[in-house]
Amino acid sequence: MAYTVRFSDATEIQVGPDEAVLDAALRQGVSLPYGCRSGLCGTCKAPLRAGEIAYPEGQPKALDSAEQASGMALLCQARPRSDLAIDTEPLEEALAAPRVLPARVARLERLAPAVCRLFLRLPAGKRLPFRPGQYIDILLGDGERRSFSLANSPLQDERLELHIRHIPGGRLTDHVFEGMAEGELLRIEGPLGQLYLREDSSRPALLVGGSTGFGPLKGILEHALASGDRRTFHLYWGSRDRAGLYLHELAQGWARESGTVTYTPVLSEPRPEDGWHGRTGWVHEAVLADFPDLSGFDVYMSGPPPMTDAARSAFLGHGLDPERLFYDAFHFSHE
Ligand SMILES: Cc1cc2nc3c(=O)[nH]c(=O)nc-3n(C[C@H](O)[C@H](O)[C@H](O)COP(=O)(O)OP(=O)(O)OC[C@H]3O[C@@H](n4cnc5c(N)ncnc54)[C@H](O)[C@@H]3O)c2cc1C
Repeated sequence: MAYTVRFSDATEIQVGPDEAVLDAALRQGVSLPYGCRSGLCGTCKAPLRAGEIAYPEGQPKALDSAEQASGMALLCQARPRSDLAIDTEPLEEALAAPRVLPARVARLERLAPAVCRLFLRLPAGKRLPFRPGQYIDILLGDGERRSFSLANSPLQDERLELHIRHIPGGRLTDHVFEGMAEGELLRIEGPLGQLYLREDSSRPALLVGGSTGFGPLKGILEHALASGDRRTFHLYWGSRDRAGLYLHELAQGWARESGTVTYTPVLSEPRPEDGWHGRTGWVHEAVLADFPDLSGFDVYMSGPPPMTDAARSAFLGHGLDPERLFYDAFHFSHE
């Protein structure tokens, strides 16, 4: 059974008895202010106007008994015990302001000869609020920075996931592939970028990624699936060869199981040993072969600049509304 929780702008969400109000709001696409998601920072505190809540994990540190007696609730910890009215307004369009945080390398794994997956953990009690698809900068200490997209959904934000392509001779990615160890401390800044899932749209979406441009699209799709988004998502993933489709089975699983996702991998230079019988050529040309009229779509796109540049002008020439094209080009830091 679920309870109805109503906010001061009349937005309503459904919250199960074992779910925190904040988690349910984020899952249903309603943005509320939050920070740590673990009861420590107090950012999600809001006045409870009506209804009963409980804190099954104990009294949260950021809510003292006087505040609780005065009717304040800590939404990241509060579980409903009845329908609720909460006196706070969802932040419909506001993007979280970027901030600088320390982050520790929690895990590093090779997904392909030239691609690593890096998981970062923030200090205890800190979370990074972001929209699915946004990116962070890794700060190198002498004013230089390198950008990487977040490949996880903000609903699963205990760790930040990055997919990193090796640029031979590149300052940061050489280090990631040759010297970085678990436990290393980095400084990051985020969230950044305009490539993020527009949760208020009901148009079918085309997700078009080249190489590690798959990362932010993974974050977007995992978020859409976890939050029960019923739109259709057509994922196109372009790579030179089969090894570059470094999470092919994951994408195939979404297409098989979700009922809302289709997946089309496209290789530009398959090797004989790939035994590839799928689509070949440029990824944006495969999109246009399947959908010559893009006027009804939202397009989310990420990858190397030659890909995003070519795709952008081709898509706009096929009816795509420029207001419905959301993308980040993976420029190198000096460009
Ligand atoms: C918004 C955004 C999001 C991004 N997200 C991701 C992501 O999720 N995953 C990811 O892998 N990358 C991503 N990138 C790209 C990534 O930021 C760069 O690959 C990274 O900065 C390289 O850092 P480096 O220190 O290893 O290389 P640098 O020390 O910056 O050296 C790179 C330099 O090497 C030269 N160079 C080397 N190889 C090439 C080449 N093939 N083509 C052109 N020039 C070359 C260039 O002159 C370039 O300036 C993103 C970029 C942006 C802007």
